Amino acid sequence: MELKDKIRSIPDYPEKGVMFRDITTLLKDAEGLVDAVDQMQKKLEGLEFDLVLGPESRGFIFGMPIAYNLKKGFIPIRKKGKLPAEVVSKEYSLEYGTATIEMHMDAVKPGQKVVIVDDLLATGGTAKAIVDMVESVGAEVVSLNFLIELGFLKGRDVLEGYKVETVIHY
Ligand code: IMP
Repeated sequence: MELKDKIRSIPDYPEKGVMFRDITTLLKDAEGLVDAVDQMQKKLEGLEFDLVLGPESRGFIFGMPIAYNLKKGFIPIRKKGKLPAEVVSKEYSLEYGTATIEMHMDAVKPGQKVVIVDDLLATGGTAKAIVDMVESVGAEVVSLNFLIELGFLKGRDVLEGYKVETVIHY
């Protein structure tokens, strides 16, 4: 069975007209889980970097095993108000309204090279907000890695000029 076949598609979630790609069916499959992490990690081969950054919450699921395997530190990117120390924030647009993500101010040092890992690239809005936040502290994004890419939403255009790696395409 291919990796893609282990992802469940749920029509009209979270709203009418959206086909939600549900990775929980892949995660519960031991072989699928290993395969997904391995394939994402393979795209980072030969790349020099210091840290893996993953946004709450599915970015944690894939970012952590990759950081662990490659012996890198992991930085959680969180929704507003969840981190206890001083933070840098970035507000970005959603389809309706805005969202704010945060990272500890001292998490990434100027000059460090980071890789961003998340489950899915849709419009690229979340990823671009993280890129802006990383660059605002003087660090560099050397790669953005996603398990799934929804190509029709053109997230890559928003991330033009950056290395974007994805495993499964819709
Ligand atoms: P973007 O900011 O539009 O690229 O949306 C990406 C974020 O939305 C990721 O953090 C995903 O976890 C989430 N997301 C959007 N669509 C889906 C989906 O179909 N399945 C799972 N997550 C999704």
